[in-house]
Amino acid sequence: MIENIFSGSDVAEFRVWMEWADRYVILTHIGPDGDAIGSSLALCHYLKGKGKDAVVIIPDSAPDFLSWLPGFTDIRVYADDPAGAEELVYKADVICCLDFNVVGRIGKVAASFLYSKAKKFLLDHHLYPGANFDVILSHPEASSTSEMVFHLICALGGYREITLDVARCIYTGIMTDTGALSYNSNSYSLFMAVAHLLEIGVDKDEIYRKVYYNYSESRLRLQGYVLNEKMKVFPEFSTSLITLSDQELQRFSYRKGDTEGFVNMPLQINGVYMSAFFREDREAGLIKLSFRSVGDVPCNRFATDFFNGGGHLNAAGGEFHGTLDEAVQKFMKGLDEWSKSTEECIKQLFIKK
Ligand code: 5GP
Ligand code: MN
Repeated sequence: MIENIFSGSDVAEFRVWMEWADRYVILTHIGPDGDAIGSSLALCHYLKGKGKDAVVIIPDSAPDFLSWLPGFTDIRVYADDPAGAEELVYKADVICCLDFNVVGRIGKVAASFLYSKAKKFLLDHHLYPGANFDVILSHPEASSTSEMVFHLICALGGYREITLDVARCIYTGIMTDTGALSYNSNSYSLFMAVAHLLEIGVDKDEIYRKVYYNYSESRLRLQGYVLNEKMKVFPEFSTSLITLSDQELQRFSYRKGDTEGFVNMPLQINGVYMSAFFREDREAGLIKLSFRSVGDVPCNRFATDFFNGGGHLNAAGGEFHGTLDEAVQKFMKGLDEWSKSTEECIKQLFIKK
């Protein structure tokens, strides 16, 4: 039996909306990842299967390694056609917000979103959902928003209606948000959901290959460069830092998504409990920050305390407006400040080994 995280009353309002609402816009966050795109496309396919007019709008483009997902080419990128996207947002009856918790995460789409008269529905697994939504289904313990879409469809009575397209999108989101079921995925109910997706016909090995064995030569060489020359390990802080400037990225013919997963790699080192990755984003004029941690080390606290960012306990991020060097200085200062903390979860980074 799959234990559903939603009760009938959780989805009652959405069910009522489905009786009258025809036009659905699905929004997800800037720099969309596998879970953002997977969950959005899965819900879009499901709604279309119910005869609805549904479209996915993303603030900026999605990485190429997801381009094989069914429905990917129908995704509207706000940055490519702001006026067209805004019209869809204004005309929507229902806006489904997937895989983000606050409107700041949808960038320039936020203005039209806030102005739209549509019913606003948040389905997400990040901590601290914000205001601006009519219905909020927030489950930080869920592996992924894609898992939550599975539960939503089941709670709406659609367990037997999940098509192969929906199932493939859901599995892709679960896989990418859990490192192929290697973290944040210790749940019986999640594996039961995955079992059902396999029963529907998902080929999980094929999806793994499509997502993770799809690199360009220069991407793999960039990884070698990062590990060999860019990864700094601070054993006294149980921490690691990788930085990449725009110039370095260009040298390796950087394409969006190429640095995905880099931040996780230093955690493979015995004694490293927190890892940071800073990437210069010249186009956006900022430094994109990623943090990962293991156990109860709260990397989201580090992101919040020093960089005004946030996220999950073990996976967080933020943005820094300044140079890469300044970001590194702030990082080192942050570690220094944290080294004076008396909190157990933070102190364990600074215990002499
Ligand atoms: P990633 O390192 O994969 O970009 O992001 C990991 C997690 O950090 C995301 O799932 C999200 O919860 C959080 N995150 C990433 N970027 C930001 C940001 O700019 N601001 C905030 N508040 N959270 C972020
Ligand atoms: Mn997610």
